[in-house]
Amino acid sequence: MKVEFSLLIALIICIEVSIIMLSIYRENKQVLFSRKFEVKAIKCEICSYVYFISHKSAFYKCPMCLSINKLS
Ligand SMILES: [Zn+2]
Repeated sequence: MKVEFSLLIALIICIEVSIIMLSIYRENKQVLFSRKFEVKAIKCEICSYVYFISHKSAFYKCPMCLSINKLS
């Protein structure tokens, strides 16, 4: 009976630890997600079409007129 009780406590601790680890993992994932999808609005200098970019680069191609715009 005593062995079973300690086993139950160990099981509860394991579950709690896994829940904490999962929440930490989710928070880190959210942080990574928000960093990865940091969007910026770019206005095309040629056709003045506003479009959004998610990746980091010095130059962006306009989806409307296909001209290359520099990130200011
Ligand atoms: Zn354009």
